[in-house]
Amino acid sequence: MAKIPIIISLDVHTHVYQDKLNEVPVWIEKTLRVLDDISIKSSFFFPAECAEQMPREVRMILDEGHEIGCHSLTHKPDEQYNTMPFDNQKNKLSEAKKRIEEVTMKEIVSFRAPVFRLNGNTIRALDEVGFKIDSSVCPQRLGIFSSDITNIGWLFAPRKPYHPSYDSPFTRGNALLWEVPVSSFIVPFMANVGMAFGRMIEKLFFKFLHIESTMFNNPIVYLFHPEDLEENRETLQYKFHWNHLLPSKSHGFKVRYALYNRNHNPKKTSENIISLLKTIKNQNNINFLTCEQMIPLLENKREQ
Ligand SMILES: [Zn+2]
Repeated sequence: MAKIPIIISLDVHTHVYQDKLNEVPVWIEKTLRVLDDISIKSSFFFPAECAEQMPREVRMILDEGHEIGCHSLTHKPDEQYNTMPFDNQKNKLSEAKKRIEEVTMKEIVSFRAPVFRLNGNTIRALDEVGFKIDSSVCPQRLGIFSSDITNIGWLFAPRKPYHPSYDSPFTRGNALLWEVPVSSFIVPFMANVGMAFGRMIEKLFFKFLHIESTMFNNPIVYLFHPEDLEENRETLQYKFHWNHLLPSKSHGFKVRYALYNRNHNPKKTSENIISLLKTIKNQNNINFLTCEQMIPLLENKREQ
C-alpha cells in the first residue's frame, strides 16, 4: 500500500518578536533538535526579512535536510495578499523570493501567505514569479475559528492537492503551481488545536485525518511555530472584552482566543506537539516529506 505523505510545516515569525529577536534562534535550534530526535524532515516558511535576520539558522535548517519556503516579505499587517492589487503582490513575492534565495543560495519553490490570506491574483503572481507550491488554504475551516471570517472559500476548497484557478485559490483551475492545503476540518490541524482542546483531541484529529488519508491518499499537512516548543515562554493572558463577541475585520471573533488560552501552558503545549509528532512517526504507513519533495509525487499522479 502506498505510504501517506505527511508534511510537518513551521511558520517562522519575527515581526511579533521585535523586542526579543535573540530568542527566535533559540526556538529554532530547539525545534531542530526535536525534529532530529524523531527523524523528521520539514518545511520552514520564512518571511524574507526574517531569513535575512537569521542566516546562520537558515543554513542549519538546510544543512539538516529541511526545506526553506517563503512566508512573504515582512509578514507585517500591511502585507495582506487578499487585498493588494496584482502588481503589488507580484512585486512583493518576486522580491521576497529573491531575497530569501540570496540567503539560501538555493531556489525557493514553496509559499505560505501570512495569516492564510490570499486571492486568485496571488496564485497568478506566484505562478509568474516561479513558485511551484502554495500551502495557504485550509479546506472546511469554519470562519468563526479564523481571522478571516468572511472567507467562505475555505468551506468548499478541495481537500486533496490541486491546481487552483486564477480567479480563486479555493477552486480548481489552470494554475501551474500546486495548492497543497493545510489539513483542516472546522479548525486547521495546527498546534493551536492542542492549546484550545488538549492533547487527546489533537490526537483524535490526527487519527481522523489518518483514516481519511488512508482511504483517499491525500497528504496530511500539520503546522506549528518554533516558539510553540519553548517551555519557558511568556504568553499573553487573554482578557475578555465585550467587543470580542463582535467580528473584527483583521482578527475575526477575538473571543476564540479564550479557547487557545484556556489550557495555555507553554510547557504542556511543547509536550503535546512532541507527543503528537511521535504518534505520527509511529504509524507504519507514513512518509515524512517537505513541500518540495511532494512535487514529483504530484506530477507523477497527473501523468497516470
Ligand atoms: Zn505567519
